[in-house]
Amino acid sequence: MLEYQGLKITWLGHDSFKIKDGKTVIIDPFKIRLSSEKADILLITHEHFDHLSADDIKKVANDKTIAVAPPACKNELSKLKLGGVEYVHPGDKVTLEGISIEAVPAYNLNKFREPGKVFHPKEDGKVGYIVGMKGVRVYHSGDTDAIPEMKGFKADLALLPVSGTYVMTFEEAAQAVKMIGPKAAIPMHYGVIVGSESDAEKFKQIAPCPVHILRPE
Ligand code: ZN
Ligand code: ZN
Repeated sequence: MLEYQGLKITWLGHDSFKIKDGKTVIIDPFKIRLSSEKADILLITHEHFDHLSADDIKKVANDKTIAVAPPACKNELSKLKLGGVEYVHPGDKVTLEGISIEAVPAYNLNKFREPGKVFHPKEDGKVGYIVGMKGVRVYHSGDTDAIPEMKGFKADLALLPVSGTYVMTFEEAAQAVKMIGPKAAIPMHYGVIVGSESDAEKFKQIAPCPVHILRPE
């Protein structure tokens, strides 16, 4: 867990995070432990199984939880008992429970499923989020490469993938840090499906900002 200006940021493994300051925001729960603590706000970046997991959402959500997700998640989310769902496209901004949430683009430039087809095409409208809580802006990138839009993002903390294959490598994550200019970064998207702790360590060595490697909790 990292405490940053009163905000508690817990890595739940892979791309799953809990951000807490009074209200609880949970992002992309996947293979998490059973939790008695429920999310006020649940953010889902896209419909891939390691980001949109109904079994895991049931562990952290109840009928008061408001979810935010791109429309491609509708089929799965409509089967769950939630307090509501806001469907967003890249560029949308919503404020829920005093927390500002900006959906930002997330897509691949050069991670191909087959020749000419990337894993996360821009036109799909998959997203990352910039969450503003008590004056701190936390950027969770979702599954993306280091895309030029990042130059326009304003964030104090950046949660970035480092595994390569489907998302940016640790070297590309360091380039992303250069574009975003956060005060600190936290590596993610390793340890479960692709990528290892050594990707996180190498990112820490070359990133032009302090890097906090968290333990999954
Ligand atoms: Zn994905
Ligand atoms: Zn992923």
